[in-house]
Amino acid sequence: MTDRRKFLSVVGAGALAVPVSTLMKDGVAFAQDLPMVATDDPTAAALQYVEVSAVEGAYCKDCVLFTDVTKVEEPAGPCALFPGKNVTADGWCISYAKRP
Ligand code: SF4
Repeated sequence: MTDRRKFLSVVGAGALAVPVSTLMKDGVAFAQDLPMVATDDPTAAALQYVEVSAVEGAYCKDCVLFTDVTKVEEPAGPCALFPGKNVTADGWCISYAKRP
């Protein structure tokens, strides 16, 4: 299996594992209520997610997949790759893509 296919299967499985009902309260998702991604989470491990980036200038808060830009000054916020969970603002993973 190619790395890309493995990545997509892991991310897809992660997305399906979280029922939409856990993401929503009265139809609105509240990022501050979300649990943190555990570094031993299978998706996190596959993406080599770390809570503190070792890559200078590359942090979750600056990533295009960090979905709530109002949280860039907060310690954590939501990531599109981890539905229903928060990542640390200073974290990083191999899917990092700088927000334009
Ligand atoms: S995709 Fe971006 S925001 Fe999500 S964990 Fe990876 S670096 Fe952080």
